[in-house]
Amino acid sequence: MTEFIIATNNRHKVVEIERILTPLGITAVTAGERGIDLGDVVEDGETFAANAYIKAKHAYDLCHSPVIADDSGLCIDALDGRPGIYSARYGGENSDYAEKIGLLLSELDGVPESERGAHYACAVCCILDDDTVIAVEGRCEGSIAFAPSGNGGFGYDPVFLKDGVSFGELSGEQKDSLSHRGNALRMLRDELYQHMFGGRTDADK
Ligand code: IMP
Repeated sequence: MTEFIIATNNRHKVVEIERILTPLGITAVTAGERGIDLGDVVEDGETFAANAYIKAKHAYDLCHSPVIADDSGLCIDALDGRPGIYSARYGGENSDYAEKIGLLLSELDGVPESERGAHYACAVCCILDDDTVIAVEGRCEGSIAFAPSGNGGFGYDPVFLKDGVSFGELSGEQKDSLSHRGNALRMLRDELYQHMFGGRTDADK
């Protein structure tokens, strides 16, 4: 199968995307591995899908070969969906995740367990050639813990609970099997097989 360039500078995402795509039979490399500097791109879309397209198009125009980009974030019900598309910038571009999580928990101070629902969302955009754009979106429903736990994953994972366990406490493979990114990339895999071979694969089912 074709090689895909992962259009992200976020090393945590690179690790997850490579780990999920490789067993699905999709070869992914970073732009850096191909000697291409993606630089920065202005993410001024109003949805995850719009921003995923902006990142994918930027990379495709630089690489001229198939690319995969992801835009993702944490949406909290009690905060009307915030931080959402601003997850990476929540609390300021330069704050670290201990600070972002601290801010988030203070915003949820007094909110009971029954009202701490949240989901992660991940829009993936794949540009195969000048005429072919594949867009999918994955979600993972969960809730926000009262305190962080676990050292796994990245970002908000220590406070994102799925069935009472934080993503920070899961192994990488356990997270992938449940996560918004895993769900989106498995959908992409099916779309790619449909596109390239006119049928679905039964792998991983
Ligand atoms: P993006 O790189 O502009 O798509 O921003 C994604 C941001 O959403 C990350 O920097 C995190 O703040 C958050 N996020 C997305 N996916 C995850 C995840 O799997 N775990 C923890 N945080 C995530």
